[in-house]
Amino acid sequence: MRWRTLVVPLGLALALGLGSACSTPAAKIKGKDVIETIQETTVGDLDGVRCPMANMGEDTYVLPDGTTKTGMTATLYPGEEGLYRVGVGSVVEIEGTRWEVINVSKPPGEPLGSVTLRKEGTGGEATLDFKYHRECTNCGELSGWTGKVEAVLGRDGLLMRCTHCRNEFVVSGGAYIEVLKDGAPPYMPGRGTG
Ligand SMILES: [Zn+2]
Repeated sequence: MRWRTLVVPLGLALALGLGSACSTPAAKIKGKDVIETIQETTVGDLDGVRCPMANMGEDTYVLPDGTTKTGMTATLYPGEEGLYRVGVGSVVEIEGTRWEVINVSKPPGEPLGSVTLRKEGTGGEATLDFKYHRECTNCGELSGWTGKVEAVLGRDGLLMRCTHCRNEFVVSGGAYIEVLKDGAPPYMPGRGTG
């Protein structure tokens, strides 16, 4: 079933409530976020793949959009797949599963640090508000509101992000004109998932 919020007449959308005008997002969330933390010089477990981590330090690394960044990094040695130098925001694909690096920590003076990764496509309820949700324009999976408002062609819309492929896109017009008429609506991460 496809969601068609933008073509629902405004009055009808408001009468139904914007959230319930669409199919329930909870049914499309595949599970809670899967988070794994690996301590330096130990072997982590990423969905059953052994993943040693070592050699933390300041370095440059590559983000998914191809830009490079400098910061605390670590090296992952997953399975047979070689090695990855990662920092916060890096995404690595390990035996078909994409993992986003959400924290890289090595406090000054500490001999060892840690890396925390989040498995993609396992929810995203921690950071998205599903009162406003749509199918991803890229892959068709569930997307929720990031809490950000962005203008496209001079009109404000809600910046959405896909729980599966992380594609971001803006929805505006239609019922969203009413939603945004007094500025950004309240942002409640995790809303609409229960
Ligand atoms: Zn997507």
